[in-house]
Amino acid sequence: MQDNPQAQSGALYIVATPIGNLEDITLRSLRILREVDLIAAEDTRHTRKLLSACSIATRLISLHEHNEKKKSAFLIGQLASGLNVAYVSDAGTPGISDPGQSLVEAAHAAGIRVVPVPGPCAAVAALGVSGFSSDSFLFYGFLPAKPAAKERELANLKACRQTLIFYEAPGRFADTLTRMKQTLGDREIVVGREMTKVHEEIRRARISEFLENRILGAEKGEFVIVVRAEEAPKCVATDEDIEEALKRLFAAEDCSVRDAADQVSRQTGASRKRVYSVAVKLRT
Ligand code: SAM
Repeated sequence: MQDNPQAQSGALYIVATPIGNLEDITLRSLRILREVDLIAAEDTRHTRKLLSACSIATRLISLHEHNEKKKSAFLIGQLASGLNVAYVSDAGTPGISDPGQSLVEAAHAAGIRVVPVPGPCAAVAALGVSGFSSDSFLFYGFLPAKPAAKERELANLKACRQTLIFYEAPGRFADTLTRMKQTLGDREIVVGREMTKVHEEIRRARISEFLENRILGAEKGEFVIVVRAEEAPKCVATDEDIEEALKRLFAAEDCSVRDAADQVSRQTGASRKRVYSVAVKLRT
């Protein structure tokens, strides 16, 4: 194949597929799916529909979360014998809250070339239309279903200063928003529902508005919830406060200027650069 001209063993192509709208399949994905010797799919019935809509007749086998380890061993054998293999999940990018990780790990371990064939991913699609900062974001995926575990995970994320992205299963949306409001506060969120499909909705509001005002046309279907990062509290520490904190620290322990700057910056909310320059003056 053009993408893998010299290798003795075949290549494993990790191919993203549409998350709803078939037009989102890329030209390269179509070519790879047509040219490989074998396609492993999370659900062969589902993928067969995509392939027949695109007139692709490549042989299909199943690889899902319950048989991934066993089927991976088989596929590594096929790859080692020189066959090219593509892996597709039901929708979006394989391995992103989907099977694929064990197969990819096994391929790396066997020295097989792993090739990304990028395309749709619900998390990235929702982040892109959120208007929230994407300089740094945390993709969480699915929260646990059990209430206590869900709350514990949300509590762990409370101090995180990054945009947060969650996947949510149908039926759990209202419960998840209620717990998010309790734990993270009434933040602004963007909900991407049924993205790229007929009933697509992209809505931005506070969590309470979603809970009270029926902002979404329906609470059915697939959701991505993007949560705006909470702004860092404004630093009110004066240079004297910083100096005092540094003196206390230097008196208590023998730490470097660098470590002291880190600690006192966290403690006071002042920038590390500002604390560092005060610490350097104190130490000279
Ligand atoms: N691998 C996929 C990807 O790259 O996005 C994700 C698979 S995960 C099993 C399915 C979850 O992704 C859904 O429960 C939902 O949270 C999100 N999702 C997938 N398609 C979506 C869509 N069209 N609109 C909104 N969310 C979607």
